[in-house]
Amino acid sequence: MKRLPFFLAMESCPRRCVYCHQGEITGVWSPPSPAGVGAEISRLSERAEICFFGGSFTCLPVPRQKEYLDRVLKAPSGSRVRLSTHPDCINPSILEFLSRYPVSMIELGISSLDDRVLSLCNRGYRGEKALAALEMVLDGGFHGGAQMMIGLPGQTGESSFSDLRRIAAMARGRPVTLRIYPCLVLRGTALENMLKEDAYSPLSVEEAALWSARLLALSRRLGLPVQRVGLHESDTLGASVVAGPYHPAFGELARAAELALSLAAKSKEDPWSVPRNSISLVTGHDRYGLRVLAGETGLALDEAAERIHFTDRQDLI
Ligand code: SF4
Repeated sequence: MKRLPFFLAMESCPRRCVYCHQGEITGVWSPPSPAGVGAEISRLSERAEICFFGGSFTCLPVPRQKEYLDRVLKAPSGSRVRLSTHPDCINPSILEFLSRYPVSMIELGISSLDDRVLSLCNRGYRGEKALAALEMVLDGGFHGGAQMMIGLPGQTGESSFSDLRRIAAMARGRPVTLRIYPCLVLRGTALENMLKEDAYSPLSVEEAALWSARLLALSRRLGLPVQRVGLHESDTLGASVVAGPYHPAFGELARAAELALSLAAKSKEDPWSVPRNSISLVTGHDRYGLRVLAGETGLALDEAAERIHFTDRQDLI
């Protein structure tokens, strides 16, 4: 389905998280008016998923939410809404209000469920609250989204893996889709000051790709689909990054590293079969996948390459 995204840059967020600067991320500095949203919707010729991202939609006053959502009702039949919001602004009355609209997914900025990490990031709530908010979304019959982050201040790989297990245990098979974002240090954020004061050290691209790869593998085992790894590229994002694992194709690196880790876990004696449509995960980005595989197995690059056999089977990864 066609997508029509609107960015409400930090609109109504309860506080400013240390790493966040939505204007720098999206290149959008002021939110569209409901009338502007309505004008774009009126130009749709087919049904669409209308998305409100980049802020905390349900923290807006309800009359303002209504102004936006009433415009959505004028979209072609079968259109839906997807929105992202802050866990603090989910409660039964908000969900009852949203149920009057064709809301297909409510994504929560979860970031982490680790209380120490949340406090260092100025998120303003505890992990239990975020998990309860996601549960409320599922109980309300909505498809849930969890936007998770890696490389946050005070965060370890194990704490993020534990977050994922807690989400899966709470969801009990109900639909939750994940996004995984590496923490970047953006210009003009509190995290930039923490970096200058040596209170924060960012991940390298390689560290972040491996961490994401492990999260991807775990989410696959837990049955939680991952819709995206890495931030959307925008005209301003690259220039706004002061430090951290920025790469325009970060998601591909993470998926290449996931494949490499899965191959490395197999026997070194047998050939490694890789679906032909995954060749780019092995050879792309200066053979990134192959380099991870060589690093993990101790094989030379050529030796690792020789063990890989491309096949038409699709069920191998
Ligand atoms: S991370 Fe989310 S809640 Fe925090 S300031 Fe940014 S948009 Fe707002």
